[in-house]
Amino acid sequence: MTTTTALVVTRHGGPEVLEVQEREVPTPGPGEALVEVAAGGVNFIDAYQRAGIYPTEPPYVPGFEAAGTVRAVGDDAAVSVGDRVAWSMTIGLHAGMVLADSQRLLPVPDGVDLETAAAATLQGMTAHALVTDVYRVADGTVALVHAAAGGVGQLLTQMIVSRGGHVIATAGSAAKLEIARSRGAAETIDYSEVDDLSGSVREAAQRLGATKGVDVAYDGVGRATFDDSLASLRPRGTMVLFGGASGQVPPFDLQRLNSGGSLYVTRPSLAHFIAEREELIMRGRELFAEIDSGRLDIAIGGRYPFAEAAEAYRALEGRETTGKLLLIP
Ligand code: NDP
Repeated sequence: MTTTTALVVTRHGGPEVLEVQEREVPTPGPGEALVEVAAGGVNFIDAYQRAGIYPTEPPYVPGFEAAGTVRAVGDDAAVSVGDRVAWSMTIGLHAGMVLADSQRLLPVPDGVDLETAAAATLQGMTAHALVTDVYRVADGTVALVHAAAGGVGQLLTQMIVSRGGHVIATAGSAAKLEIARSRGAAETIDYSEVDDLSGSVREAAQRLGATKGVDVAYDGVGRATFDDSLASLRPRGTMVLFGGASGQVPPFDLQRLNSGGSLYVTRPSLAHFIAEREELIMRGRELFAEIDSGRLDIAIGGRYPFAEAAEAYRALEGRETTGKLLLIP
């Protein structure tokens, strides 16, 4: 029996429940491919599942993002041995060898290395969906981006700016605000320092010519920022709640959308924007083309062997990271 290293969530809990185990290498069946993983991305969804916020029964192999090389294929696979591929939003990718549905694999172009692909796929396709289909950013759009020095935040900021939009960025330290500025943010706010966050956002919006508030608020911080995000919007503005890094937003009174000025609220998940293969391939192609052309820079904040995966999650969940952390099998 040939085995491969895998990260395993042994029970619900904090990063300490992660273990490295040996697992049997599977054989690809029809339509499947066996991929040798070069790197996997560390994401909040892994932490939500490990904590039991999103239901997943332990023991299981976590990981929702990886890139690698196809080593074997079953009949009628959509890829060939030797292809460089990346994928996300199917669980179990934090292992050395992973069996994949070949229809879900994205081809990685020659100009993009596998670590960059692993770092970009989930957060990059998320940011792409958020600026194209969730709210269409256009020339002159004024957008609020929370945690702008984070993984999704840096990508969102770059994608909004490259589409002609203006970003008001928040982050939790001066060093993180500097990163947001380097990604093109026009205005920055340290939300750990201000008493009236929505007031500060509205002042920044005024300086950008948005006298009635921001067009769109991109909020992955959740509980701690949701109210201020809503209060920062112009009438008929759009609140995009895409995560809960500070905790999930409690139930709220829809009447607030009326008093705020006929506001829109949406709670998107990447899964619904790559469900069809055609859309998945389109999003991956556009993302990798932006990286390949140099328009989108992917920040890798650290590389960890599986044995130190708990440290990577502690850093992510403890607000210590900027950009993407990778796990190397
Ligand atoms: P980040 O790299 O952005 O890290 C999270 C950041 O959130 C922290 O660095 C911190 O930045 C900020 N933050 C504020 N309060 C807290 C808190 N109490 N605990 C931890 N962090 C806090 O992470 P990602 O880019 O991986 O993810 C960002 C968000 O996007 C998450 O909510 C995630 O779930 C969501 N997401 C959603 C997807 C979807 O499909 N809807 C897909 C991918 C990600 P600072 O110190 O500057 O405040």
